[in-house]
Formats: sequence, structure tokens, C-alpha cells
Amino acid sequence: MKKDDLKSLVTQMYEDLLENIDSQKDPNKEQLVTYLQNAVMTVQNINEDDISSVEHAKLAFSNAYKEIANKTLSSYKNTNNRFEKLTKIHEQTVQSYEHQLIDMPSIKEKFNEIQNHMSQEVQRANQVIAQLSAQVKELESSSNLDALTKIFNRRALDTYLKNLCDKKELKHELHVLLLDIDDFKKINDKYGHIAGDKILIFVANMLRKALRDGDKVFRYGGEEFLIVLNRIDVNTCQEIADRILKLVSSNQLFYKGEPINVTISIGSTLFYPEDTPEALINRADKALYKSKKSGKNQINMELKNGF
Ligand code: GH3
Ligand code: MG
Ligand code: MG
Repeated sequence: MKKDDLKSLVTQMYEDLLENIDSQKDPNKEQLVTYLQNAVMTVQNINEDDISSVEHAKLAFSNAYKEIANKTLSSYKNTNNRFEKLTKIHEQTVQSYEHQLIDMPSIKEKFNEIQNHMSQEVQRANQVIAQLSAQVKELESSSNLDALTKIFNRRALDTYLKNLCDKKELKHELHVLLLDIDDFKKINDKYGHIAGDKILIFVANMLRKALRDGDKVFRYGGEEFLIVLNRIDVNTCQEIADRILKLVSSNQLFYKGEPINVTISIGSTLFYPEDTPEALINRADKALYKSKKSGKNQINMELKNGF
């Protein structure tokens, strides 16, 4: 075998090998081994007598192999590099997740901070509410109006009666009506305290509606009211009281879809110049007691001066 023949053979082998590798999408070690086995067979078939040519062929082959091996290795290296890159990216990603995971306690801490801040704010708001409620109570106690019904309260009544009795002489007749809601305890028990409160507001509004300017309506106690009627005689007082009884009893109230019938009892009396507030109210109360005893939802008068 001639030197050039051997050279061209090896070049052919080499080119074949590269072509073979290039044609493969994913060349692998097994393919290379198969090719090399074929190459070895080819070399072995070279005339054994021509040692130099054989040696050259072997060297050429080994160089070709080295190159292929290098290329394969570099391809592996590239893959390796890509893998390393991916690993780094993955590592960074993992690290960033780890970072997030590590941050979870600090997020929790932040959340707790916000919660604490919020509960502090709520506490502060509660303090302000408590302060305001105390102020409202103070204002109410120094005010003349009843907080629930918005009519004059007992405090205003005391002042009014004291001034009235201090005057001694009045140029006109003045009547006092003491009103008490009938069976209010039963209403409270059956429909609840809130329903009871609504009825108190309703009755107060009815009384306000029924009166003229110059007349006064007070909340005397729990479910008791007191009206002062100015410049009227006994008959007119009776008429007004009847009107009030009708107004209240004819208004059917509904609470949560259930009708509630409300009636009141009235006791009235005339003001006498020598009256004290207590004496005046006692007489009205006596009359009221009569109304309650006689079946409620009615008016009775106590006109006789006890002095
Ligand atoms: P009577 O016909 O004899 O007057 O019976 P009554 O049930 O109306 O009288 P009693 O004195 O036995 O009960 C009065 C009730 O009024 C008891 C009390 O709980 C209720 N009351 C007093 N003040 C208020 C209030 O501001 N709101 C409410 N909802 N109920 C009140
Ligand atoms: Mg009562
Ligand atoms: Mg009552």
C-alpha cells in the first residue's frame, strides 16, 4: 500500500466519520464505537507487509479519533457548560426562592407588626369612643332633653315645676297629665327591650303631635310621661286626654311583622297656687292609679286640692 493511498484512505475515513457524526442529530458514543470498529476492520485489511503504511494509517486513524473524541468531548463540554449555566440559573432561582422562604418569618413579622398596629389603633379608637360616650353622658345629664325620646327629661321637669310653684299666682288654668304605658313590662318581655324603646319613642312623638305650642311634654320616668297643658279648662283637658288615648291606641305598631297594640292610662289634675311639685304630681298619680284600677286605656281626674 502506497503512502498516498494510505493517506487518502485515512482522509476518506476521517471525512466519512465527520460526515457521519454531522448527519446525526444527537451523535453518541455507541455510534462512534461502531464507526471505529468498522475503521479498525478496514485498517486490519491493509497489507500487513507494508509496515510504514500501516503505522501511518494507525497514526492517522488515532489522530482522527482524537479529533472526533475532542469534538465529542467539546460537545459534551458545551452540554456541560449549558448544564452548568442551567444549574446556576436553577441555583439562583432556588436561592431566590430560599430567599423568599427565609423572608417568610420577616413577612410574618411585618404582618404581626401591622396587626399590632391595627389593634393599637382599635384600642385608641375604643378609648376615643369611651371618652366621647362619657362626654355624651355628661352632656345628657346637664341637658334638658331625654336621650331616647328627645323630649324634655325629668331634670327639665323638676326645674319647670319648681319655677311654676315658686310663682304662686297664675292668671290662667294649668293642667298636669301623668301618663303611663299600659302593660309595658309584658311588651318588653314579649318583643324585647329594643321594641320597648321604639314604643317609647312612638308614644313621645304622638304626644308631641297632640299638643299645641305652649304645652309641654316630659319623660317623667321609664314608661311614664308628664304633660303640662296651659290656658285650658277642665273640659278641654278631658278632650285633649281623650284625643291622646285614641291617637295612641288606634295606631297599630308593627315589630318584625307582628302587630303590637299599645295603650296608655292617664291621670290629670289642676294646678293650685299653693301646690308644691310633689303635691301636684301626687294628685296626678292618684288619678292615674284610678285609671289603672278601672281597666287602663282611660283618663281619670283628681281635681280636689288636698291642702
Ligand atoms: P301597668 O299597666 O300597670 O303600668 O304595667 P306595666 O307593665 O306598664 O308597669 P310596670 O311598672 O310593672 O313595668 C314598667 C316596665 O317599663 C318595666 C321596665 O322594664 C320598663 N321600662 C322602663 N323604662 C324603660 C325603657 O327606657 N325602655 C324599655 N324598653 N323599657 C323600660
Ligand atoms: Mg309605670
Ligand atoms: Mg306602665
